[in-house]
Amino acid sequence: MPIEYINLFRESLFSKGCYLKRFIVVTGASRGLGEALAKIFMNADNFVLGISRNSNAELIDFASTNGFKYEELCLDLSQHASFDSISTEFKNKYFVNNDYDEYILINNAGVLEPIALLSKMDLKDLIFNLEVNVVGALGLINCFISSLENFEVQKVVVNVSSGAGRNPYEGWSAYCASKSALDMFSKCIALEEKRKPFGANIYSISPGVIETTMQDTIRSKTIDEFPMINKFLDLKENNLLKSPQEVAEKFKAFIDLKVKSHEVVFNLYDLI
Ligand code: NAP
Repeated sequence: MPIEYINLFRESLFSKGCYLKRFIVVTGASRGLGEALAKIFMNADNFVLGISRNSNAELIDFASTNGFKYEELCLDLSQHASFDSISTEFKNKYFVNNDYDEYILINNAGVLEPIALLSKMDLKDLIFNLEVNVVGALGLINCFISSLENFEVQKVVVNVSSGAGRNPYEGWSAYCASKSALDMFSKCIALEEKRKPFGANIYSISPGVIETTMQDTIRSKTIDEFPMINKFLDLKENNLLKSPQEVAEKFKAFIDLKVKSHEVVFNLYDLI
């Protein structure tokens, strides 16, 4: 079925208050934005799979209290062996039958550190950053797309990027470069997927500044480590940080209604 018809169908379903049955993979579900994203997609029809190193007892409780389907894979996305496990779980457990109308991957897991001038950076930290933010996200896209190749359904990949991938920040070179790479990879994969009849819609979306432990880390730095720290102290003091819940709601609104958008790389708050 042409994608335009699917989008029309989707919009008419939503306008009638009906919902698609979705399988959603959210990385970094143990806290912050990922936790809020996992929670907001939970309902009686959906299946949410969280991936992070640590378990999230609150999400497990929330799901079991409400009878929602939520499971976790506790894996380190900096480790290549994790992708063998994920691929096996996708192919042999989660994506065996084509049970859902839509399959969504939200690559949200990310690390900001090392926050340091490159000349003072520990190279192990630099490599870890790139492994999680770039290789981790791409490894998951690889597992997701290849495992679903034969499913004639809507597939969506949302990479959580950052304004830092589009503007240089002193002291954040690893993070800025990793998010910039994520943006460009997303553009390339979007071209590849467009050729396929049921290729995935790929997006790389910057969410704005959110009150999570990542912001606590930023504010704990010295001005030498991060010369732009005052900007982030001011944002906190002036109450300008968004809550993870509010940002998750925006992401869901985008995924619900704007999947036909032709942009791959954009800011969440510019679009809706
Ligand atoms: P956060 O509170 O620090 O949470 C990061 C998440 O990533 C955690 O659940 C963490 O889980 C997971 N993670 C980190 N390393 C991992 C690894 N090696 N393997 C698996 N999971 C890993 O950060 P956040 O603020 O929610 O950030 C979420 C996303 O938004 C990130 O991609 C970030 O770059 C982006 N973002 C945030 C802001 C902001 O202001 N907060 C602004 C722009 C963009 P475990 O520790 O349990 O593994």
